[in-house]
Amino acid sequence: MQNENLLIGNFTRTRAILEKYGLRANKRFGQNFLTDLNILHGIVDAAGVTKEDTILEIGPGIGSLTELLAQSAKKVFAFEIDDKLIPVLADVLSPYDNVDVIHEDILKADLNFLRGNKHLKVVANLPYYITTPILLHLMNSDIDFKSITIMVQKEVAQRIQASVGSKDYGTLSLAIQYKMNAKIALNVPRTAFFPSPNVDSAVLNLWPLEDFTPFEDEDFLFKVIKASFAHRRKLLTNNLLFIEKDKNKIEQAILKTGFNLNIRGEKLNLDDFKHLADNLSD
Ligand code: SAM
Repeated sequence: MQNENLLIGNFTRTRAILEKYGLRANKRFGQNFLTDLNILHGIVDAAGVTKEDTILEIGPGIGSLTELLAQSAKKVFAFEIDDKLIPVLADVLSPYDNVDVIHEDILKADLNFLRGNKHLKVVANLPYYITTPILLHLMNSDIDFKSITIMVQKEVAQRIQASVGSKDYGTLSLAIQYKMNAKIALNVPRTAFFPSPNVDSAVLNLWPLEDFTPFEDEDFLFKVIKASFAHRRKLLTNNLLFIEKDKNKIEQAILKTGFNLNIRGEKLNLDDFKHLADNLSD
């Protein structure tokens, strides 16, 4: 058994590392360091990391999650944007020869070097200010991730996992559920971080749909979805006027999709939106 007090994620050790390097959490980069070892182990468990897996980590910070990933996985590639953290990571992760820290903005990174790897997982405590752009970057990379396990703001996790008809259901739910299954694995209080953020968090598990088939005109589908939620209290007919001037055409398309004209966007599931997009482009 390893001595948990020596792990980077131990609160006292984290404080000592920050002090040694004269570091403070940089708000500009969304830095809040996890100092709860139960949660750190919980993330690795939720991702089901095995010795076969290659992990893409986004934002290793001072390496608390990276260390546990290095212990459980075959290989870890960790992208960190902050110059100041690079020498710290080189130092604290020196016992692990299966970690590559890459000093780069994840949103500008070319992830093609990961292509073809059959045991690829994303595990990360994300910088919250760019959660959605990171998720879209990963999904649009067309790389086959077996799963994506990420710490995000609780409200965002709830929106991503929301089902049709619920108050959290909307464009983000549909954008992610278009390609992935989504489930909250763990709720995380703000006290698990140093410094504590002013929001609660959740660990979200995403894994690819088995039967994913791309919709013919994805851009139009998401234009329809976005317009349908533009004003939540408005009827679908009125929201669709943002993208189609012909009200009669909108009404015919809604009726043909199987709904009455009093319907709101939140009542349509992804298949309904696909039919609606087809009917609107007829
Ligand atoms: N993984 C660490 C932990 O759990 O304690 C730190 C997580 S902290 C919430 C987010 C990390 O993402 C920070 O280290 C921050 O510098 C890094 N980061 C922010 N923007 C980034 C970007 N565009 N590309 C890569 N890393 C980024």
